[in-house]
Amino acid sequence: MKSKKVVSFKSLNETVGRFNPKERTFLIPQMNRIGGHLLAATFRGFGIRAKVMDTYKGLDLGMEYTSGKECYPCQITTGDILYFMNREKERLGEAFNPDNYIYFMPESSGPCRFGMYNKYQRIILDSLPDLNRLKIGSLTTDDGYSLSGIIDSQRVSDLRRSSYFSVVVADILDRLLWRIRPYEKEPGITDAFIEESMHRMEDVFEKCGPGKEFDRILDEMEQVIRDGKALIDPGIPRKPLIGMVGEIYVRSHVHANQDLIRVLERYGAEVVNASIAEWMNYTSYDRLRDAKIAFRLSIKQLRFGLVKKHLKRILGFGSELSYQEFRQKKVYDRLASQIGIVPDHKVGHLEGILKENDVFSFDAGTEACLSIPGIMEYARGGYHGVVNVYPFTCMPSTITSSIIKPMMNQLGIPYLDTPYDAGIQPGREAAIRTFMYQAYQHFHQHGRKAA
Ligand code: SF4
Repeated sequence: MKSKKVVSFKSLNETVGRFNPKERTFLIPQMNRIGGHLLAATFRGFGIRAKVMDTYKGLDLGMEYTSGKECYPCQITTGDILYFMNREKERLGEAFNPDNYIYFMPESSGPCRFGMYNKYQRIILDSLPDLNRLKIGSLTTDDGYSLSGIIDSQRVSDLRRSSYFSVVVADILDRLLWRIRPYEKEPGITDAFIEESMHRMEDVFEKCGPGKEFDRILDEMEQVIRDGKALIDPGIPRKPLIGMVGEIYVRSHVHANQDLIRVLERYGAEVVNASIAEWMNYTSYDRLRDAKIAFRLSIKQLRFGLVKKHLKRILGFGSELSYQEFRQKKVYDRLASQIGIVPDHKVGHLEGILKENDVFSFDAGTEACLSIPGIMEYARGGYHGVVNVYPFTCMPSTITSSIIKPMMNQLGIPYLDTPYDAGIQPGREAAIRTFMYQAYQHFHQHGRKAA
């Protein structure tokens, strides 16, 4: 592909936003493999032709069209979409039409760079022949990732709720993988089982998602857990429990983090990564929090027109958050105890931890709001070590590291920072081994408390 100089930024308004995907293929980047597939299946159930793109195969293209100063997830996703488009051109020849696709790249507001990925990628796509016609479908944290505008208005709420449910079930499937694999009877059986279970759950979401038949989905998931339980060798004693936090993309993307969970398992860990639903809940929680602050301010200033507006927002975000927390709790209540899957926490609880310790504030925003108290929660829960996973130079994760490292030192809990880019750090494996040695010392001293 040859790029040309971009002379107009008009397309940032016209080809980045919400578009109805009728008659188009909705392309979902693969951040978390299971989550991406269950979400796509849910969309398909609602009649949207959704497809999960291959990932990491186009990293060279991502590097070629970025300068090296961008965040690593931006480089990976840029490569993914360019690679996909190249393959489609080869496959379809003359029939290739970029109008037939919507590339899904959400954004977030706030001080870090995630809000700029789709704009930057727009500029790249505009510089390439034909790809200026490829639309970028964007949802934003500003309205808690509302799906309005991409489907008929009567079905927006159902799609949002089923999509959220798919995220929670995907979290459980991931946690099932991390629960079984360190204790599997034969090497490799867990990976094969989880892959097969993911496809099984895709079929269920496609069928049951549109009618919000959540109990039927959970029946199937319960069966998956029963089948998974049989893969555990009861003769293998429980291992040190390692908590993982960090930047959502890299900690969830096994290629980007060089399969860190598997490496930790190789050195004797059982790992629990922070969930994806945590971020969804955080966006709703944060919008609700903003609306409450604006509401109080408008009362103080006697601006009654605004009072009504903010009250409406409080009710909207409040009911969405309550719904999400209610659904998530129901899923964990029914499934987690069957095999000792670690339950998830509420975002309000995390803010409470921050306030207690007064080390950071939700006013500053970003994933540091989740990672810092998430680590403290692991520490309270008796974990034997914590890993912070993030793209090299990631601002929120660097803040997390600077605040949490001295605290973990004081508590005597092993802690490891693992920044990633496309390079292989020569000392990484040795650092992980040393960390796991420390985690074992902690484990022998304190024993295993958590599930
Ligand atoms: S969270 Fe980190 S990696 Fe993600 S956009 Fe912000 S700075 Fe970049």
